[in-house]
Amino acid sequence: MIYLDSNATSAVAPEVLDAMLPFLRQSFHNPSSSYSAAREVKTAIEVARAQVAALINSRPESLVFTSCGTESLNAAIESAWQTCPDRRHLIISATEHSAVIEPARRWATRGGKVTFLQVDADGLPDLEQLVAALKSTPTALVSVMWANNETGVLASIDKVTQLAHDHGAMMLTDAVQAVGKVSVDVQKTPVDFLALSGHKFHAPKGVGALYVSPRVRFDPWMLGGGQESGKRSGTENVAGIVALGRAAELALSKPEVGEMRDAFEQNLVSHCPCAYVHGKGAPRLPGTSSICFPGLVAAEMLILLDKLGLACSAGSACHTANVHPSHVLQAMGVSADDAASTLRFSFCRYNTPHEAEEAATLVIQAEQRLRALAEEAAGPVVFS
Ligand code: PLP
Repeated sequence: MIYLDSNATSAVAPEVLDAMLPFLRQSFHNPSSSYSAAREVKTAIEVARAQVAALINSRPESLVFTSCGTESLNAAIESAWQTCPDRRHLIISATEHSAVIEPARRWATRGGKVTFLQVDADGLPDLEQLVAALKSTPTALVSVMWANNETGVLASIDKVTQLAHDHGAMMLTDAVQAVGKVSVDVQKTPVDFLALSGHKFHAPKGVGALYVSPRVRFDPWMLGGGQESGKRSGTENVAGIVALGRAAELALSKPEVGEMRDAFEQNLVSHCPCAYVHGKGAPRLPGTSSICFPGLVAAEMLILLDKLGLACSAGSACHTANVHPSHVLQAMGVSADDAASTLRFSFCRYNTPHEAEEAATLVIQAEQRLRALAEEAAGPVVFS
């Protein structure tokens, strides 16, 4: 099986597994306990904090470990609600992940105002609309994702952050798909909150982090024993945190490159003349490719590709159970039909150029078979 679905979740790196296992075996102690074995566990958490901080160029004490990207994003938005009672406006991009859209909906049901920023055909947010929205109402928070999970499009977070700050708003970025894949530096891009997630860059599922700038107040939503300097109570997922630290260290030393993805896209587009790449005019993550095969049904392509030995996804894998067309592609002006004909392929550093070539051959085969079947019969497709 060729795995091209690393944006859904990535394989745990062998080095990461080696680093975390001792904390599930002999070093299982509660880091809040006072004996020496527990103190060693606490030290391991602080080492991991420094490793993750190095990856995004933050101070270690600005990082709060969480259970996932979703928790980090919810915590930031909830904090903005709690700390800004006189600024009840939230601005988010229309292409955000549901981990931002759903808290935004709650913001609105509590009586706050939410503005959805439109994006252009490449998925980049409309900065003029942003300025107008910032001027219209005192804004607590602007949330624009660093990299889109479906298309890989990289937003101009520098500019968005500058505009948010110019109007007294805080800036949150969902960097879940960006961290570990492209350079993310919170000194160069001075966001106030940044969410990241371990399982997107070769740590296991169940661990994430929230960067909170020292410039802003943070109101924690997880209350209890006061772990994480009171910012996120709950006994720490030590093995997960150690894994996140090691994955961060690996990401710094092995950056992702885009050559494989570019060759894959070129191969596909030259063999499937009507296929086109979403977000091609914008900067993108090096390993993400969102390709429309007009006229074909992505769900049928997925079944056939699975049989042929290729794992990829239709739009966003987090929404696989969701039959609605992708809100990301629709916001980019893609028709519902083309959105339903789109597949996402996401590479990682463990894929090889040979796999990329094989995968392109399989996709071309599948595309030709489905087109032939569609021409032969108008009925439903049955795979033998
Ligand atoms: N944000 C983006 C852009 C994502 O792609 C995902 C997961 O796919 C999330 C947030 C949620 O992260 P997690 O699965 O760690 O909760």
